[in-house]
Amino acid sequence: MERQALEQESPDVIVVGAGFAGLTAARELTRQGFSVHILEARARIGGRTWLDHRLGRDLEIGGAWVHWTQPFVWAELKRYGLGTVSSPEPQRAFWWADGGRQEGAPGALLQLIGRYNDEFVKDSRTYFPEPFRPLALDAFKEIDSVSVQDRIREQFPAGSTRDILESFWALNFNGPLENAALTQALRWVALTNGDWAINFEACATYKIEGGTSALAKAIFRDCGASIDFGFTVAAISDDARTVTVLGSDGRTISAAAAIVTVPLHALPRVAFEPPLPPAKTEGVQLGQVSKGIKVWIRLRGEHAPFAALGKADWPLNFFQVEYTLDGDTIAVGFGPDASKIDAADPAAVQAQLGRLVPDVQVVEVSTHNWVADPFAGETWPMHRTGFLSTHLPALQAAHGNVLFAGSDIAHGWGGFIDGAIESGMETALEAASLLQVRTELR
Ligand SMILES: Cc1cc2nc3c(=O)[nH]c(=O)nc-3n(C[C@H](O)[C@H](O)[C@H](O)COP(=O)(O)OP(=O)(O)OC[C@H]3O[C@@H](n4cnc5c(N)ncnc54)[C@H](O)[C@@H]3O)c2cc1C
Repeated sequence: MERQALEQESPDVIVVGAGFAGLTAARELTRQGFSVHILEARARIGGRTWLDHRLGRDLEIGGAWVHWTQPFVWAELKRYGLGTVSSPEPQRAFWWADGGRQEGAPGALLQLIGRYNDEFVKDSRTYFPEPFRPLALDAFKEIDSVSVQDRIREQFPAGSTRDILESFWALNFNGPLENAALTQALRWVALTNGDWAINFEACATYKIEGGTSALAKAIFRDCGASIDFGFTVAAISDDARTVTVLGSDGRTISAAAAIVTVPLHALPRVAFEPPLPPAKTEGVQLGQVSKGIKVWIRLRGEHAPFAALGKADWPLNFFQVEYTLDGDTIAVGFGPDASKIDAADPAAVQAQLGRLVPDVQVVEVSTHNWVADPFAGETWPMHRTGFLSTHLPALQAAHGNVLFAGSDIAHGWGGFIDGAIESGMETALEAASLLQVRTELR
């Protein structure tokens, strides 16, 4: 392949990826007077957030919900004058128990989840007293090899209440629970002071006015960095003075430092020279638990808002109504394993939803398979057993002049937009001090 240098001056920093981590890092650095060039493989900013026009209206194909317990994203909303809009409050709930569909008030379903969940999460602040410093105490290492599934099964007797709890956590992990880290579940709940119901509210209640793209655009406009879209980074080399980035089409660009925000499951596509140390490589190979699916569903007619929770191993195990549109209803569904369902097939989605919610007719569906997406490979990153103690610190560490950021490796709300912003802020600070030291040494 012929290499061709990009026709522009070398920036101080190259940022790989224009998701929330990359955009935030770019803005923080340009505000400090550094020049930044962003390389983004897709044709748009936003990464795993994506407001797109589907089923007759704008829908969030990736990340959507934010919350006042999430300090970084909340501060960004205030900074750019963006408000939030609420998802409709469910008026009915459906769940699976005692071998059949059950219907009741939403509060009844929450009570059923809480029957064991209060006990399940009660030690969250014991292990994670400072939720934004998850490694502060060593005590969590004793339980870092325990999976959510093992802990639930040893702690609670078999039966419908346990099934409901398992399904709730399969929803949170957007993946199967066999390798889902108990520490990840407890970290989450520690972020809402041990209150799982507030945590659940954080996951599915408040959306950004104008969509996630409104916030991504506001940060991008504010950052003054230049950007190349359609630039897939294939290799990054660092000779201790200059970092050179090679695109899959042979283009190259150099800078004093680089910040890589590529998701963990997309990182194996990037070659590093010198190679990444074993602890990083192992962490990348281990990957995340989140391999699920999110699907938008248009239902014939208007339905009162409902929430519905099926079983943990169902291809779609959670549904929630979001909008009405021209006399129809738009609902969203989630499942823990994208390979278990063709979520682009209305009949397949109908079969799942129909088990839980009576008298619904699926008219049209729309989805994006993030697991099959080469620039994501995962949905919202959720750690495996052992990842926190062994791999998180290694993956957060700089590799010479190449730094790493992203929601996958955030300290606090890892897996969320908030974590991406937190990580982008912190890594920008690290890059700035690296550049400062190098200037002083010159
Ligand atoms: C279905 C779904 C639902 C979610 N729901 C929520 C939610 O409700 N609330 C919430 O807070 N979070 C949610 N999330 C998670 C949230 O969207 C992500 O954690 C966050 O947006 C990740 O930001 P990031 O910048 O770390 O990574 P990304 O957004 O993935 O950004 C990384 C960027 O790097 C680019 N890239 C990858 N490889 C290369 C390469 N080789 N060369 C160049 N560029 C490359 C990618 O295209 C991407 O733009 C959800 C995610 C998904 C997928």
